Amino acid sequence: MSTALNRQVLVLNRLWQPVNLCSARRAITLVFLGHAQVVGTDAEDQYFTHDLDSWIQHSSSSRSERAVIRSITQCFRIPEIIVLAMFDRLPKKQVKFSRENIYRRDRYACQYCGENFEPKDLNLDHVVPRDKGGRTTWENVVASCIPCNTRKANKLPQEAKMFPQRDPRPPSWRPLFSTTERPLPCDSWGQFIDLKESEVLLTE
Ligand SMILES: [Zn+2]
Repeated sequence: MSTALNRQVLVLNRLWQPVNLCSARRAITLVFLGHAQVVGTDAEDQYFTHDLDSWIQHSSSSRSERAVIRSITQCFRIPEIIVLAMFDRLPKKQVKFSRENIYRRDRYACQYCGENFEPKDLNLDHVVPRDKGGRTTWENVVASCIPCNTRKANKLPQEAKMFPQRDPRPPSWRPLFSTTERPLPCDSWGQFIDLKESEVLLTE
């Protein structure tokens, strides 16, 4: 039973966007507290939400392989997906400032020559060099290939005559949950997280 309670459950926010994974134990607690509903599928693979009572009913009527918790009178099927009912954490999250996220924002293209590179062949470049007061922020750091980075060195864009192709800004996409794990632990997750990276980028 403890293994079943440690299974991963996909957490959706109120907009049905994936935000997290949690343990089945945590998911069940959220459902018991009324903070989340279970997302289940019917025979036609339509998605339905269930509160606690309706999920208990569904658990005893359906003949799924999915693990259940049983008491003497009831059984409670371990959910695969829950949707948060009370709050929506997504808008509060910001994209973490990191090397990987700068590369993603710049679409793995050197912002000086415009060529695409593997992450290992990219570098971070301070548009205004640090020794000239440039800060390490979304607005002053861009992806650069190593030759361009070397050529620009610690010169200002005007001095090097090298300007970023796109004005560096904080990304407008949001940090939706995604996983590289394939196959997905549950088929039912596919509807929500089988996004290619480019589709996670919202319009700019
Ligand atoms: Zn370059």
